[in-house]
Amino acid sequence: LLSKYSTAAAIDEQPIKPSVQVDHTQLLIDGKFVDAASGKTFPTLDPRTGEVIAHVAEGHSEDVDRAVAAARKAFDQGPWPKFPAYERQKIMLRAADLIEKHNDQIAALETWDNGKPYEQSAQIEIPMLVRLFRYYAGWADKIHGLTVPADGPYHVQTLHEPIGVAGQIIPWNFPLLMFAWKVGPALACGNTVVLKTAEQTPLSALYVAKLFHEAGLPAGVLNIISGFGPTAGAALASHMDVDKLAFTGSTDTGKVVLQLAAKSNLKPVTLELGGKSPFIVCEDADIDEAVELAHFALFFNQGQCCCAGSRTFVHERVHEEFVEKAKARALKRAVGDPFKSGTEQGPQIDSKQFEKILKYIRSGVENGATLETGGERLGSKGYYIQPTVFSNVQDGMQIAKEEIFGPVQTILKFKDLGEVIQRANNSKYGLAAGVFTKNIDTANTLTRALKVGTVWVNCFDTFDAAIPFGGYKMSGQGREKGEYSLKNYLQVKAVVTPLKNPAWL
Ligand code: NAD
Repeated sequence: LLSKYSTAAAIDEQPIKPSVQVDHTQLLIDGKFVDAASGKTFPTLDPRTGEVIAHVAEGHSEDVDRAVAAARKAFDQGPWPKFPAYERQKIMLRAADLIEKHNDQIAALETWDNGKPYEQSAQIEIPMLVRLFRYYAGWADKIHGLTVPADGPYHVQTLHEPIGVAGQIIPWNFPLLMFAWKVGPALACGNTVVLKTAEQTPLSALYVAKLFHEAGLPAGVLNIISGFGPTAGAALASHMDVDKLAFTGSTDTGKVVLQLAAKSNLKPVTLELGGKSPFIVCEDADIDEAVELAHFALFFNQGQCCCAGSRTFVHERVHEEFVEKAKARALKRAVGDPFKSGTEQGPQIDSKQFEKILKYIRSGVENGATLETGGERLGSKGYYIQPTVFSNVQDGMQIAKEEIFGPVQTILKFKDLGEVIQRANNSKYGLAAGVFTKNIDTANTLTRALKVGTVWVNCFDTFDAAIPFGGYKMSGQGREKGEYSLKNYLQVKAVVTPLKNPAWL
């Protein structure tokens, strides 16, 4: 087989210069870019080289205090929740137009800071961001309560009101999509926001938040804090004046922020956490299509997806053919500079994730799985890893149980439907699953039996703004996207008025 992925020498070529400059590195508080109170900064790195892109203001608890105070004022005294919903909608739509206009610059920043292929940023993710903001803008003027029939002479109505100041903490794997999943519904419902970006990827959110202000968003409605988890993140999660917390990240950190929220003011929390999602290839599947989709399900975004199809279960009758073809497909994967056209896979986010993934690969080999291809670093700088495929993976192995969050496909063999359902569900996670079959009965059985928040049948990673997303079990609490996400940012007030003349009932 001819390996089509880039050679180490190609990886070591001079990295392509991004066609964007970094304009914003300060915190965004009360509509202004400001330094951290401490004056501290931290470097954000280019995953292609490990070199510094920019030094960014490092927010700490005093900055979180300032941002929460600004958000509080914008909520309690400011116009945002009091605006006619149509005004909020118009501002969000204008912001979406501006994002669309700056698509290429935003995509370049996202790729530079994160390492994901530029074509993925520019053609998939930034357009999805635009779609998400337009979708939630559409909801802004359709949020309303009910009239409730009561057992007595009362007029009873419910008001659906914004909760207040929303604290939001996001990860680095989809910096802007995670921003949109949180900011979109929060603003549409009339809340104000303090969002903490991931320390690995602070740049793109500052750019997009600036566009929101250009679109007419009042000062204090959307505040952005760059900084680290145990300092800025923990300060936000435990803040007494934050009314709601939304978190996306690892399950371990999810437990920490849930405790911080409970110990402070008992703010409600939504959690989007990790996963170990099964991708089930049945015996009747078209093998070439299944191989391609399973490859995409795992390797998309350098394997750094919470819902990655990271346990590829293949029926024993088609297993051998599948493994050969999966290996051939991985060998063809184009790894290289994410700014180069045609690149399918860029570097991993940072040295920590890079080392973690290589450690998992070593554990797979040590535990007796068969390394079909890959397994090594690519090049001598940055965080590139060869697309890696393991077969003969057993359920008890570390690589089959824990989230690798990298370009490592693990293939497991199964005999029948009952067995694969039991094994697929035998995980602490329950985020998503892929089912690949031509048989409608098999699809129906699997979709109902799998304990996960999303089942993709003969497709994978189909993300639309309208489709809810979230996890069963330790993959999270609550749902984001779609109409379901509005609930996270609204509370219900019942208003009861006696009817003085019951005859009118
Ligand atoms: P992480 O939990 O380390 O960090 C996520 C965010 O939490 C970052 O902003 C970080 O600064 C912050 N944080 C860290 N410690 C904190 C603390 N003590 N208090 C408050 N905030 C803190 O996760 P990560 O490594 O950045 O992201 C990868 C993880 O995120 C994976 O497990 C992945 O599955 C998960 N993820 C889930 C979804 C989903 O929708 N379910 C989406 C993307 C990523």
